[in-house]
Amino acid sequence: MLDTLIIGSGPIGLACGIEAGKRGLTHLIVEKGCLVNSIYHFPSNMTFFSTCEKIEIGNVPFVAHSDKPTRKEALEYYRRVKKHCKLNVNTYEKVLGIEKMEGFFTIKTSKNTYQAKNVIAATGFYDQPNSLNIKGEELPKVRHYFEDPHLYEDQRVIIVGAGNSAADAALETYYKSAKVTLVVRKPVLKSKIKYWIKPNIDNRIKEGSIKAFFNSEVIEIREKEVDIQTPDGIQTLENDFVLALTGYHPDFDFLSALGIKYEEDGAKTPIHSRKTFETNVDNLFIAGVICGGLKTNLWFIENTRFHAENIMNTIAERAEV
Ligand SMILES: Cc1cc2nc3c(=O)[nH]c(=O)nc-3n(C[C@H](O)[C@H](O)[C@H](O)COP(=O)(O)OP(=O)(O)OC[C@H]3O[C@@H](n4cnc5c(N)ncnc54)[C@H](O)[C@@H]3O)c2cc1C
Repeated sequence: MLDTLIIGSGPIGLACGIEAGKRGLTHLIVEKGCLVNSIYHFPSNMTFFSTCEKIEIGNVPFVAHSDKPTRKEALEYYRRVKKHCKLNVNTYEKVLGIEKMEGFFTIKTSKNTYQAKNVIAATGFYDQPNSLNIKGEELPKVRHYFEDPHLYEDQRVIIVGAGNSAADAALETYYKSAKVTLVVRKPVLKSKIKYWIKPNIDNRIKEGSIKAFFNSEVIEIREKEVDIQTPDGIQTLENDFVLALTGYHPDFDFLSALGIKYEEDGAKTPIHSRKTFETNVDNLFIAGVICGGLKTNLWFIENTRFHAENIMNTIAERAEV
């Protein structure tokens, strides 16, 4: 019988494991992919907007080559944290569901069955891309993740989105000789784009080296073309790849299957205490970026690291009684 089973080995799932260890509580982190699976799937050349110390966990110092770490440095850091803090992580094992019993949970995974007094879901949102819901989205040339710019060398690439991911992908692919067109639903790009990226993307658009359609939407994707609804009517562009970087959302089906209910706030915020992070199901907690529901820009590693301490304080206090 574990004190705590943690679903997901993202930074916040790992932080929960560390805090359990500090309090002498047993834990197991079950991860369906590799360690810090979401970060592994971030763009290969990505630099975090946070400085190193802001995404440290368990007081383990994060040292990188510059103030803001790269994805590669973050992977190295979290690997070391796992080892240093002696975290118990089962990777490549998916949690399929949990069943609430009298005073504990039975957790079924793709490989095993466990029993735990408490469960923490720290499952993030990066697995579920927001769909465009248009004809042709299922074509293999349409991608919801931007991994390596080299793939798009000399290709006609349409990038849908207005945030950091779209701006990064537009610049990176442009610098690797892609012919880039940005399609943005709103009249401008998001103001929250990283301050060292914003002037660059604005200037590339101004000089015309990256083409941009504002107040526009992709309405159909075909093998060799894309239709874009613009303020001046429908434009058809020849096209090789579409990168739909329109955000992600938590796996609500999974959370609902755990018994979690949602606030009626239009953002599907999972019901939880803002202090203990316990959900409407007793001894089932949520942690990390899933706490924002559809508001995925609300929470980061930076401002959710503390969830781990709050949750484990609650679990430890109850264990003492
Ligand atoms: C491109 C990008 C850049 C970002 N940059 C920053 C930044 O600079 N600073 C910052 O503070 N935040 C940043 N964020 C936001 C956020 O911090 C990250 O998304 C972070 O990884 C969230 O941590 P988490 O532990 O809550 O969830 P995640 O890291 O997403 O971890 C969830 C884990 O749960 C696993 N999982 C899901 N379902 C199951 C299941 N059924 N069974 C087992 N395992 C499961 C997943 O595989 C995953 O490993 C960024 C986000 C993105 C997308």
